[in-house]
Amino acid sequence: MEKHVKNCLRTEWKDVEDYKVPCSCNEKPIDKIIRVFPRKTTHTPTDDLVFIGSPPFTPMIPEADEIHISVTFTWDIPEAERLYKEWSNVLPTKIGGPAFRDPGGEFTPGLYKKKGVTITTRGCIRKCEFCFVPKREGKLRLLKIKPGHIVNDNNLMAAPMDHFKKVFDMLKNQKQIIFGGGIDVRLMTQEKADFFKTVSVDTIFMAYDQDSQYEYLKRACEMLNPLTRDRKSCYMLVGFDDDTPEKAEIRLRKAYEAGCYPHMMFYTDVNGLSRSKKNAKYRELHKIWVNRMTVHTHMQKVTREDKSKKNQTEMFDKD
Ligand code: SF4
Repeated sequence: MEKHVKNCLRTEWKDVEDYKVPCSCNEKPIDKIIRVFPRKTTHTPTDDLVFIGSPPFTPMIPEADEIHISVTFTWDIPEAERLYKEWSNVLPTKIGGPAFRDPGGEFTPGLYKKKGVTITTRGCIRKCEFCFVPKREGKLRLLKIKPGHIVNDNNLMAAPMDHFKKVFDMLKNQKQIIFGGGIDVRLMTQEKADFFKTVSVDTIFMAYDQDSQYEYLKRACEMLNPLTRDRKSCYMLVGFDDDTPEKAEIRLRKAYEAGCYPHMMFYTDVNGLSRSKKNAKYRELHKIWVNRMTVHTHMQKVTREDKSKKNQTEMFDKD
């Protein structure tokens, strides 16, 4: 363990308050590790060595060397610590993950994320106020490129061009590719946009977190043509700082008009608290702006209403 700790990126984080967990970096073959998660997400692996929550009856626990409790969200830490106590009775157990400010090492497909997910870089070149990535993972680091069709880098666009090209070389053998990490539209160039057109894209999720990114979003959508709106989406953060439901709705409509489907996301602080989630007006918006069908229907309706208002104004002007 001592030798491993020396080689481990997590030693950078030893001064972090509450740092009390052993390193969870992967030393064992994946088929020897039981992975335990406090909750299931769309990216949780699904193999026989994966468990959500408490251990089952002993005979149902598969053979393994150790147990890793992987925690993504800080608000799951108390539950993860409870699980740690329970699973420690079964086999040697470690606890870690992004919630513990683990900056992450090389990516192992299928270990803490389901098969198909890949991460080729960690960290970021930016320090957006609302984002935990730079605090947790530090500056941008390039990882070995492992195959996968769900590319979940925090900021793939910030990678140097030769890494970017290698990622797309890997993607040539993948189908229904999802760029799920939030493409930084400020870094989109026509050269990079053209790479997206060479592979089998399911959806490109761009990031439109601040209104100041609007022109970049519009430009990126244009650069990605002829990929249709169905292939283009953008995460849109709401409820951060002085945001209001009214301001958020304007941004959501603008994003649609830029040529993509906006996907509304509530800002949540480090304790899992979200002021906007409790606000009825934001919740009303959320009912519409996370589903493509409802977004499409809503935008058809508001476009009709806007047209009719315009016609009425023109009629009054003539009178
Ligand atoms: S660009 Fe994205 S990943 Fe980087 S700090 Fe901003 S929000 Fe976080």
